[in-house]
Amino acid sequence: MHDFALHRPRSLSEATAQFTSGGEAAYLAGGHTLIPAMKSRLRMPDALVDLSGLGLAGIARDADRLWIGAMTRHADVAAGAAAIPALACLAAGIGDAQVRNRGTLGGSVANNDPAADYPAAVLALDAVIETDRATHAADDFFQGMFATALADGEIITRIGFAIPQAAAYAKFRHPASRYAIVGVFVARFAGESTDAWRVAVTGAGPGVFRWTDAEAALAAGRDGPAMPADDLNSDIHAGADYRAHLCGVMLKQAVANLA
Ligand SMILES: Cc1cc2nc3c(=O)[nH]c(=O)nc-3n(C[C@H](O)[C@H](O)[C@H](O)COP(=O)(O)OP(=O)(O)OC[C@H]3O[C@@H](n4cnc5c(N)ncnc54)[C@H](O)[C@@H]3O)c2cc1C
Repeated sequence: MHDFALHRPRSLSEATAQFTSGGEAAYLAGGHTLIPAMKSRLRMPDALVDLSGLGLAGIARDADRLWIGAMTRHADVAAGAAAIPALACLAAGIGDAQVRNRGTLGGSVANNDPAADYPAAVLALDAVIETDRATHAADDFFQGMFATALADGEIITRIGFAIPQAAAYAKFRHPASRYAIVGVFVARFAGESTDAWRVAVTGAGPGVFRWTDAEAALAAGRDGPAMPADDLNSDIHAGADYRAHLCGVMLKQAVANLA
């Protein structure tokens, strides 16, 4: 591994100052994406800024939203997100026990892996992503494979998930890593209009996206539409046609689980 400095800041301002103190820096959360990338030299930061001393872990609820701190580990979301059972279930299905006991919500959302689970929940639950300097709406946050609206050095502090009337997540998982080959998150909010439904798909394309045709079909009480395969991923795990088929199957499963 490339040599690097390790900083352990005690405040957000100290963290951002250390991030810009010279050379390439990276924030360290659970390390379950960053450390493997460093071991394989895909990333070679000169400094790691550890976010664990900033008090960014914890779960709280207000009238409309469930707020989860960026450093909250997947296992703690699985145990503590009772206000949104679908979110707790999603967290319980990430990776294995080691990953769930180290990996964090903020790390997953900042990383925006196209097969990660949380981005589907963030988008379908119309979440807001709070940082040390801004509040981002979920619809504007994810910008394609591993790309987000975060500026260089910006730190996610907490994420506020709108509490739905009902929600469910269905994932066809990779049997080894348990990343989503396709995952579909369905959320129903109060009201009768199309806005009452939000459906987000992960794993299928180059980044998480809303499936607006499915939202319109659910609002009208129709069966889910077919997913076009045109822009979907083809790789050693699954072809685009198969992923398109899985989108329909996962949508049906999620809708069945809403009840
Ligand atoms: C074997 C294995 C299986 C996995 N299976 C799954 C799975 O089934 N589903 C799934 O969704 N994920 C899976 N993951 C990924 C896992 O969820 C990681 O925890 C997650 O991708 C990154 O979170 P982290 O806390 O480990 O972040 P880190 O690895 O520490 O950081 C990841 C990136 O985010 C940045 N970052 C971290 N926190 C912040 C913050 N608060 N603000 C701004 N930037 C930040 C870091 O600088 C880095 O660039 C798996 C990982 C492994 C190793």
